[in-house]
Amino acid sequence: MCHQKGFTLWFTGLSGSGKTSIAQTVEEELRARQIKVERLDGDIVRQSLTRDLGFSKEDRDKNIERVTFVAKLLTRNGVAVLCSFISPYRARRAKSREEIGEFLEVFVECPVEECARRDVKGLYAKAFAGEIENFTGVSDPYEDPEAPEIVCHTAQETVVESAAKIISYLETEGYIPAI
Ligand code: ADP
Repeated sequence: MCHQKGFTLWFTGLSGSGKTSIAQTVEEELRARQIKVERLDGDIVRQSLTRDLGFSKEDRDKNIERVTFVAKLLTRNGVAVLCSFISPYRARRAKSREEIGEFLEVFVECPVEECARRDVKGLYAKAFAGEIENFTGVSDPYEDPEAPEIVCHTAQETVVESAAKIISYLETEGYIPAI
C-alpha cells in the first residue's frame, strides 16, 4: 500500500500479561492487509541491540531509549511499528511518546496473580522464590499508564478479542483503511 501513515503501537504491561501474543496477532492482521509492519519485542531486542543492559531502573530506561530511537525512524518512514516491552516507568514512556509522535499506548492489563499463574517463562516461580532480583510486579515497580489509547484486559478477553479491539481503533482513528 502506498502513502501508508506510520505509527507505533506501544504495548506495556507485566511479563506474561500478553504483549507479545497480542502484538503477533495484530502483526498478522496488518500483513494480511498489505501494511508494512516491524515488530520490536523485549525478549529479542535484549539479545541484540541492548544485550549489554540489565534490569536496574537506569538500564531499563536505556533499553527503552534505544528502542524508541529505532521506532521513531520506522514510524516516520510510514511503517506500522509494534513495540512490546514491559516499559514499567511512566516518565520514560512519556518521553517515547514525545519522540515518536504517532504513539499509541496499549496497556496490556492483567493482575500479577494471573500472570504468575500463566508463568509462560517460569520466571514468576523464580521471582517469588527470591531467585530473581528486580522482577517487575514482584520486587520491582510497574507504573500503570494514566491515559493509554487502548486497554486490553487479558484476564477477561481472548488474544483475538484484544487484537480486534486494536485493529478497530486503528481503523476508526484513520491509521489504517477500514475494510
Ligand atoms: P508478554 O509478552 O506480556 O510477556 P506473552 O504474550 O509472552 O506475554 O504471554 C502471555 C501468555 O498469556 C500467552 O501464553 C498467552 O497465550 C496467554 N494469554 C491468555 N489469555 C490472553 C489474552 N487475553 N491476551 C494475551 N495473552 C493471553
